[in-house]
Amino acid sequence: MATLQAVTGMNDLLPGDGQGARWQRLETTFRESCRRYGFAEVRTPLCEYVELFQRGVGETTDIVEKEMYTFEDRGGRRLALRPEGTASAVRAALEHSVLAREPVTRWFYVGPMYRAERPAKGRYREFFQVGVEVYGDGSPAVDAEVIDLAASFFRDLGLTQFKVRLNSIGGPETRARYRDALVAHFAPHRDSLSPESQARLERNPLRILDSKDPRDHGPREGAPSILDALTDDDRAHFERVQAFLTALGVPFVVDPTLVRGLDYYTRTVFEVVDTSGALGAQDTLCGGGRYDQLFTELGSAAPVPAFGFGAGIERLLLSAPAVDAAKPFRVAVVAAAKADESATLAGVLCLARELRAAGIETLVDTRFASMKSQMRRANDLAATVVLVLGGNEIASGMVSMKIMATGEQRSVARAALRDELAQVQRAATTTGAP
Ligand code: ATP
Ligand code: MG
Repeated sequence: MATLQAVTGMNDLLPGDGQGARWQRLETTFRESCRRYGFAEVRTPLCEYVELFQRGVGETTDIVEKEMYTFEDRGGRRLALRPEGTASAVRAALEHSVLAREPVTRWFYVGPMYRAERPAKGRYREFFQVGVEVYGDGSPAVDAEVIDLAASFFRDLGLTQFKVRLNSIGGPETRARYRDALVAHFAPHRDSLSPESQARLERNPLRILDSKDPRDHGPREGAPSILDALTDDDRAHFERVQAFLTALGVPFVVDPTLVRGLDYYTRTVFEVVDTSGALGAQDTLCGGGRYDQLFTELGSAAPVPAFGFGAGIERLLLSAPAVDAAKPFRVAVVAAAKADESATLAGVLCLARELRAAGIETLVDTRFASMKSQMRRANDLAATVVLVLGGNEIASGMVSMKIMATGEQRSVARAALRDELAQVQRAATTTGAP
């Protein structure tokens, strides 16, 4: 029988190599950043009706055209595993009339996303994103504040080598003007464009600027800049975003070719790219922007301005420096008894539970082989302290304590055990014992 394997492009995270701790630290740091900026968590289902992403992400995007995991459920409904978080969050906000209860909504999310892409370093078919969303505020201060949140989150993760790329792709009027200018620019180069870009020339020429196909790089040179097509209002908005970012001390570079892969963006778009080289071609850590038309696109009667970003956890971890996790304080309780001496073994289990209830990581080798083998297991699991409990200790209310780093061994009264352990723990952290 063939060995069973995980789906291509989807990863297991096993405990033991420190990765779990790094994931947890990242999530904790993100949640803490969100708390400071006044965001609350939203959780939405892993799958939605396909139509949500077709309308919300856009028919001509890479995601909808070729990356979605779609399937029919048993009732013949067309579903998709979510490829990103924004469409679902907006759907939830609309479905629950959230904006009828509060003028401005600040949400964050953490969870897996699914895209059928060619796997590479930093590019997977199941990957995880953290993201934030602001609904109901169209002011440029929101754009700056959310970009500031992203940058400060990255700094808190220990990232130093990253760059914020910023652009404005304007509103509908700007886009219509720019579209004409782009079509005029690309039309003479039509035959040298990639087949994909040729198809997009009429439908969505902006996306040609976003193409990763080398055939499109030449024709792109000398293309008109969208910044020249901005309406006065769009320009004023963009200038104020930049002024706020400067006041906040967030460094950024304006890149007029940045258009982002999703159709729903308006005005401000931004990306944070890794500049350390740790990520190779997949160097975009985070992408986001303003999407003032998404609510109406998804059926809202009134327009609702919105701004947000999504960042890939795997890429952030590839970019973040490894930090030495503090060595945990860990106690092992060993039975000085044979495997059939139930009373003593129960005493061991009870002592372990008592310590666990006090918040101490406590291990018991419940196979209860020889004392020697229990000691060896405690040593292999890097116990800081081993407690030995036999019939005599139980009868006398004592426990034998061995400090593994020094080999020191002494008898301790059960009543004093917690204080003794606290002392050992303090000593272990202050001397920085390896
Ligand atoms: P890319 O240009 O790398 O394909 P994208 O524009 O498709 O990225 P977004 O849809 O903006 O990416 O998603 C936001 C972030 O999610 C990305 O910046 C990246 O960190 C992460 N991300 C996107 N796709 C993947 C993937 N297949 N595997 C891992 N992370 C991903
Ligand atoms: Mg992509």
